[in-house]
Amino acid sequence: MTRRPRICVVGSSNVDLLARVPRLPRLGETLVGRTFHLGYGGKGANQAVMAARLGAEVAMVTRVGRDVFGDGMRRNYGAQGIDTTHVLVDDERFSGVAPIFVDDAAQNVVVIIPGANLGLSADDVRRAAAVIRGVDVLIGQLEVPVETTREAVRLARAGGVRTILNPAPAAPLPDDLLALVDVCVPNEVEIEALTGRTVATVDAAVAAAQALRERGPRTVIVTLGERGAVLVDADGATVLPAVQVEAVDSTGAGDAFIGSLAVFLAEGDDERRAARRANAIAALTTTVLGTQDSFPIRAVADAFLLARAVT
Ligand code: ADP
Repeated sequence: MTRRPRICVVGSSNVDLLARVPRLPRLGETLVGRTFHLGYGGKGANQAVMAARLGAEVAMVTRVGRDVFGDGMRRNYGAQGIDTTHVLVDDERFSGVAPIFVDDAAQNVVVIIPGANLGLSADDVRRAAAVIRGVDVLIGQLEVPVETTREAVRLARAGGVRTILNPAPAAPLPDDLLALVDVCVPNEVEIEALTGRTVATVDAAVAAAQALRERGPRTVIVTLGERGAVLVDADGATVLPAVQVEAVDSTGAGDAFIGSLAVFLAEGDDERRAARRANAIAALTTTVLGTQDSFPIRAVADAFLLARAVT
């Protein structure tokens, strides 16, 4: 390859505020927690970081607040080597945050406050048009307004750029957006919401993927957690069984799948090979605690693919 793969992510930036507590507090109760951790997240951010770890040139189009978390998120992007030209600062909204409580029994409660993510507009995307047109692959999700994601996908398509849509979190989607998508990658919950079909078996997942494909995307890949993934395109279905690992934390596995899929596609893999390799990289990330912290650098990813004979 003569140059690094180029990826643009249009999507969310969030800060996870993770408090470990002996038990979940009762209504009105003040409880002393065990530990606190601040983690950078948001599906957009996670997918961008995964792509950067694998060696891609990554540009992020996102909004953060004019606050301490916004400063931290910008620094985090910079530290990962991600282009922050289009990391915009919202003067009215606070940064996207997610306070999370996890108790000793690993039960959790989560509140997501999207904040500045809801300020990311179609105009912001149009201002980044030159960046979007210059990449190999554009990735969008649904943690920003759907019109914003639609504009990003539209501009990419018009410029001949391959488009990946991660329809997460589950939300109704206009067919004119789906028709512009090359590869749509929902998880189990999202495909069920989009198609009204359950995916209790792998065959059912294939059928649901086929139903979603009929609404527009050229290829649908459903990620199925510890069951792996299925890919459906014009040539039919391919089942990708999960790569066997000692999973300790699957948070962010879907984002790892999508970020690495984008890089492999940008490097010229066909979709089946890219999905097979992304399926392995996502499995690898479940063996390490954390989200972005669990995403491997390229050398580690390549060594794992080799060790597991994922070619
Ligand atoms: P999400 O993070 O959106 O819930 P999934 O749970 O479907 O996504 O996981 C995404 C991908 O991560 C799967 O398609 C699979 O490749 C990998 N994965 C997740 N859990 C495991 C596991 N226990 N063992 C192996 N691979 C896993």
